[in-house]
Amino acid sequence: MTMTPAPSHASRLLEWYDRHRRTLPWRAPAGRISPPYIVWLSEIMLQQTTVATVGDYFHRFVKRWPTVEALAAAPLDDVLSAWAGLGYYARARNLHACARVVTEQHGGRFPDDEAALLALPGIGRYTAAAIRAIAFDQPASAVDGNVERVIARLYAIETPLPDAKPEIQARAEKLVPPQRAGDYAQAMMDLGATVCTPKSPRCVICPLMTNCLARKRGLAEELPRRAPKADKPTRRGLAFVLARKDGAILLRKRPAKGLLGGMDEVPSSPWREGKLSIIEALKQAPVPANWKVLDGGVRHTFTHFHLELAVARATATTARLARLAPGSAWVEIDRMTERALPTVMRKVIAHAVKG
Ligand code: SF4
Repeated sequence: MTMTPAPSHASRLLEWYDRHRRTLPWRAPAGRISPPYIVWLSEIMLQQTTVATVGDYFHRFVKRWPTVEALAAAPLDDVLSAWAGLGYYARARNLHACARVVTEQHGGRFPDDEAALLALPGIGRYTAAAIRAIAFDQPASAVDGNVERVIARLYAIETPLPDAKPEIQARAEKLVPPQRAGDYAQAMMDLGATVCTPKSPRCVICPLMTNCLARKRGLAEELPRRAPKADKPTRRGLAFVLARKDGAILLRKRPAKGLLGGMDEVPSSPWREGKLSIIEALKQAPVPANWKVLDGGVRHTFTHFHLELAVARATATTARLARLAPGSAWVEIDRMTERALPTVMRKVIAHAVKG
């Protein structure tokens, strides 16, 4: 038997939201609406990243680039540096590209219709819906991981994810109220983040408990189900940390497209699956030097693979520096934070400095 939540679903949720809404740096005070730039920026930052991590980055971005035009005018390198540590760097490149399109083609104003939003770089269905709902108060259904969980439980949807996505999306759309759509979207996000949590959902204080089929059937903690994930492969390589006598370290820029595109890195051998041959990898060193391979190494997980990097360290001598590849740069350790250095490279440098 399928049970439809009572018509008062939205009003009960909104009543709860009015009392328990989270205070978030990008969220407008009660009764107000955040500007589209703020909603867009926060939503892009929050993809694959926690609210706690995003807070400082959000503050720094808004202080430095208070408008979409200011962000569009910034050099990409500055945006990538400010983003360093948030991961998934394609988001930062798309963020910059999107700011430019909004500035150049939309006069600095985000569009409010779905098709125009989806045409912008880095904006998918979820982000378009979140912008429409939160910044324009349109009845759009923004289904992120939190909302997905709430809906799967409300309707006791036992089909595993990702196959359950269309059904969850359709159910979620039907629940969006015509009034206060932005508050409703944020209420669903808050409910998923604070009450209908992945583990030990707090059903006894949930405003939707009387409608919830998963709670009635004792399935709340089991849902949503997920299809088993394929194991990620592990790639391996050797990273080269070349230091000058004054402590500056050699960095180079990665190609603009692809993984960590446009970011800085220390040189390394290619990252490949299978056993790493240190002897072969040392042939990829950026300059001949007395390379010392350090004990231990660095492990990092990307979306589609794990990476294990051994780390070799050497001190640069002037005679050999003429052979450095174009685009290489020496960067003092205390200026590394100004560089677009991805987390994996920060780990490598920390390992070399410690070792
Ligand atoms: Fe989630 Fe429990 Fe509320 Fe159902 S009753 S929506 S499982 S917190």
